[in-house]
Amino acid sequence: MKKIIIFIGPPGSGKGTQAKRIVEKYGYGHISTGDLLRSFQTKKDLAVDEQAALSAMKFGGLVPDWLIYRLAFTAAKESLDAGKGIVFDGAIRNLEQAQEYEKFFEKEHLANQVVVVDITLSDEESLYRLTTRQVCVVCGAIIPASEKIIQCPKCGGVLTVRADDDEVVVKNRIKVQGNDALAGIRAFYQNLGILKIVDGAQTIARVESAIDAVLK
Ligand code: AMP
Repeated sequence: MKKIIIFIGPPGSGKGTQAKRIVEKYGYGHISTGDLLRSFQTKKDLAVDEQAALSAMKFGGLVPDWLIYRLAFTAAKESLDAGKGIVFDGAIRNLEQAQEYEKFFEKEHLANQVVVVDITLSDEESLYRLTTRQVCVVCGAIIPASEKIIQCPKCGGVLTVRADDDEVVVKNRIKVQGNDALAGIRAFYQNLGILKIVDGAQTIARVESAIDAVLK
């Protein structure tokens, strides 16, 4: 299996859920830039430019590239130093980032070790999923609100609605990070011949089997 697995796909397509399964099954390091940013946001001594950069998250916009590179490449080096493969989850959201990550992989002599899995989903389904889901504050598990439960079935943690799962913010996230925005990234990886496509509008188990099949 390739050492670098990159998940792309619209918000709510299941990148996080599937990345966690890769981590459990294959012992890969997990780099979710969303998680890195949320954790960075809790730091007390943030500089003014860092605070300004993070404010994009509130409205569903993109955080500036420099902060993404700083957080993602630092975490990537840690995993690589520990001898682990890496699954990147939502870590690439525009063409410039795709190009910069390629440079990083080349520098690390990993250019031939990259596979990109595109988990496809319509913008309509993306909107539905994001506005009807809850997230566990402890383990990050995603639970559809239709299950009408308040405790995480996996770890017992409290379930909450993410601040940016508010409908107005979700619509902006889909505009900025949905299928239109992904077109250039998809074309870039298609040209490199490393793009695999998996239909994200299936059950979690079926998406997982489809991912396993394209990774082999
Ligand atoms: P997520 O948890 O993956 O939905 O990400 C939450 C938010 O973090 C997104 O709506 C963006 O504002 C920001 N974000 C995450 N990853 C990136 C990235 N690679 N580039 C720019 N912004 C990002």
